[in-house]
Amino acid sequence: MNSSLDDYTRLFSSLRTDKNQKRWLSHTCNRAPHKPFLLLSILDLIATGSINKNFIEPSFELAETFAGYWTRVMPIGTSGSMSYPFYHLASAGFWHLITQPNVQHVKGRNISSVKRLRELYHGGKFDDDLFSIMINEKSRRKLQSVLITTFFSPEIQPIVFEQGVINQNATQYSAELLSTAEPANQFILTKDVTKKRIKNKIRDQGFRKAIVKLYEHRCSLCGIRMLTPEGHTIVEAAHIIPWNESHNDNPQNGMALCRLCHWSFDEGLMGVGEDYEVLISPAVRQDNNFPGHMETLSGRGIFKPHDTLFWPKQDNLEVHRKTKFRLFR
Ligand SMILES: [Zn+2]
Repeated sequence: MNSSLDDYTRLFSSLRTDKNQKRWLSHTCNRAPHKPFLLLSILDLIATGSINKNFIEPSFELAETFAGYWTRVMPIGTSGSMSYPFYHLASAGFWHLITQPNVQHVKGRNISSVKRLRELYHGGKFDDDLFSIMINEKSRRKLQSVLITTFFSPEIQPIVFEQGVINQNATQYSAELLSTAEPANQFILTKDVTKKRIKNKIRDQGFRKAIVKLYEHRCSLCGIRMLTPEGHTIVEAAHIIPWNESHNDNPQNGMALCRLCHWSFDEGLMGVGEDYEVLISPAVRQDNNFPGHMETLSGRGIFKPHDTLFWPKQDNLEVHRKTKFRLFR
């Protein structure tokens, strides 16, 4: 039997969620927002083409999109894992988990993190009818709207809609930055985005996605690569010539850097030489409190993307060497 958009609209609006009034604020109609956030995140990734077949991987991209909704809507200091709804949505009937080889699906399992989820499950799939409905833009908007109006209070609904616009455009922006090494500043945001604040968020998020992907979560200067079980990464996307001076989000003006290296680079304590070697400023040596490992990086090759098109441009690094890098103690 074929199910229609109306059937799924009903199922989406009657998702089972935790209704503990003490735990969940009026924002989310005193209900847990995990399942709506997961479905909204999947709809966003379908809209941008990141998900184009009926197999949904518990990817870090999905976890990050979920976290974007969470941070935007939920009180500061709270956190929620995408792994819970990914697993528990199976009770809704239209979502089917696909186990990893040699793993059995067991009901009521405690899935504590995205890492754990990935160990046990290869992914999930929707009813085929539902997935066909989701790839149609008009029906997708209807499902998105049902989730937002059912599970979020009227005051917060515009923010949830706005987060969807940001997610979809940031993914698109990141794809554009990665599709060419030509200056990407001609990027035109969809017409419905007119507010400067939202444009900046889209730009920030898109640049970050592109750079983190190119550098595979590895710090270009010290080489560290660390991810939490939730998929939070140690690296940030750094501009070589700051955005406010260059207005340049081209990956050739970017590097993935850990927090320590990002700060040190911006402060001119670290730099990159003409042969892509790490430069450590003599200013580092004047203070015994500077971490000793920085010295050991001096002269070592930086970590660069596989594709030479995306390597940091020497012109940009030269500007950093001339204007920021501290040559003296
Ligand atoms: Zn580093």
